[in-house]
Amino acid sequence: MLERGEVANSWRRERWDSLRLLTPNWQSRLPGLRYEGLEPDGYMTMGEVTEFIERFAKVSGAPVRTGVNVTSVRQADGGYRLATSSGEIHARTVVIASGACNQPAVPALHDAVPPSVEQFTPFGYRNPSQLPDGGVLVVGASATGVQLAAELRQSGRPVTLSVGEHVRLPRTYRGRDVLWWMDAAGVWDQRYDEVEDLTRARRLPSPQLVGTPERTTLDLNELTSMGVELVGRWAAIRDGRALFSGGLRNMFSLADLKMVRLLDTFDEWARTSGRDAEVGPPERFPPTRVPESTRLHLDLQSGEIRAIVWATGFRPDYGWLDVPVVDAKGQLRHEGGVVECPGLYALGLPVLRRRKSTFIYGITIDAREVTDHLARYLAVPE
Ligand SMILES: Cc1cc2nc3c(=O)[nH]c(=O)nc-3n(C[C@H](O)[C@H](O)[C@H](O)COP(=O)(O)OP(=O)(O)OC[C@H]3O[C@@H](n4cnc5c(N)ncnc54)[C@H](O)[C@@H]3O)c2cc1C
Repeated sequence: MLERGEVANSWRRERWDSLRLLTPNWQSRLPGLRYEGLEPDGYMTMGEVTEFIERFAKVSGAPVRTGVNVTSVRQADGGYRLATSSGEIHARTVVIASGACNQPAVPALHDAVPPSVEQFTPFGYRNPSQLPDGGVLVVGASATGVQLAAELRQSGRPVTLSVGEHVRLPRTYRGRDVLWWMDAAGVWDQRYDEVEDLTRARRLPSPQLVGTPERTTLDLNELTSMGVELVGRWAAIRDGRALFSGGLRNMFSLADLKMVRLLDTFDEWARTSGRDAEVGPPERFPPTRVPESTRLHLDLQSGEIRAIVWATGFRPDYGWLDVPVVDAKGQLRHEGGVVECPGLYALGLPVLRRRKSTFIYGITIDAREVTDHLARYLAVPE
C-alpha cells in the first residue's frame, strides 16, 4: 500500500477545522474495528477520524508505506510499472484507492472574478479568521456549502449562498438519525447495477447534513433564519457582475418533493418490517421558504463581497495514471471497480458497487467483492 502522505492523509490535511463526520459514530465501522465509545450517535471530529483510521491500519496489519508518491502507472510486462518517489515497482495488478476528492472542482467562472475578491476552496479554508472582514459569497449548497455558510454567518459576516441542485435531509427522522434510516431501509445497499441512472447517481451532490453534538438539521430554512441570503445557481459573470439563475421556487420544490418521497420510503419500510413501534410517529417538515425577492446579480466590484468560497464539489486526480482509462470528464471508466484494463481495479469512488460506496463503512463489502475478482485474475497463470 503506497501512500504519498501519512495514514488518513485526507482527513489530516484537506479538511476545515470545525468539520465533523456527517455519518454517526456507530456507522464508522471497518473490518475488525468499530466505534466503542460512549456516544454512538455522535459525530467524529477530524482528530477522532484520523485516530480511528490509524487504529485500523494497526489492527488490520496493512502493509502501508507512507511518504511514497506514485508519479506514474503504465502497462508493462503483463502488469504495471509504477514510478514512485522511492523508485520503480512492478505489479501484476494495481488497485487505485487514491480517493474521489483529491481536488476541489471549481467552475471556470472563477477566472473572471475581480482580483479585489479573495477566493477560497474547502482545501484552503480552515476557519473564518482567514477571510477578510465583509461579505462572503458561498457557492454551492451541499454538505460543504451549507456548513461553511453557517459557520461564516456565525462569525458575524453577511453571507450570500448560491444554491444549485441539492439534496435536502433532516438530521433526525422519527427519533433516529436519517442515516440510520438509509441503512436500515436498505436504501444505501442498492447495487450499482440496479440503479436506474448510474451516471447521475454517481454525480449526485452530498446531502445537506452537518454532524453536531446537538444533532441539528442544517437546511436552507435554518440558514435563512440565521440571516443567510439565498440566490440561484451562479450562471455567468459579466463585467465583474455575478449573474444568478432564477427559479429558486422550482428548485426548492424539487428538493422538498424528493425528501418527502424518501421519508415515504422509510415509513413504508417501518410499516412492512414491523418496526413502526420502535420509532417515533411519522413527521413532515415545512417546505423550503422561498425569499420574497431574490437578487439575480451581484456586483463583485462594489466591495459588498470580499471573499468567495467555492463549495462546488470535489474531483479525483489521475494525473499520474498513464493508462487510457479516464474519460473526458476526468472520471475512471470501470464496471463496479473493475477498470477497463486487465489487472487494474478501483475502490472508494461514488456508487462504485453500492450507494454506500462513498462512505467509510461502505468500503467493506466493495473491497471484498473487488478483491475476489482480483484474486480470480491472479489465479490464472500469466
Ligand atoms: C469534506 C468531506 C467530508 C466527508 N465526510 C464523510 C463522512 O462524514 N462520512 C464518511 O463515511 N465519508 C465522508 N467523506 C467521504 C470520505 O472521503 C470517504 O469515505 C473516505 O475518506 C474515502 O477514503 P479513501 O481512502 O478512498 O480516499 P481518501 O481518504 O481520499 O484517501 C486517498 C489517499 O490516497 C493518497 N494518494 C492519492 N494519490 C496518490 C498518489 N499518486 N500516490 C500515493 N498516494 C496517493 C492520498 O494522499 C490519500 O491519503 C467525506 C469526504 C469529504 C471530501
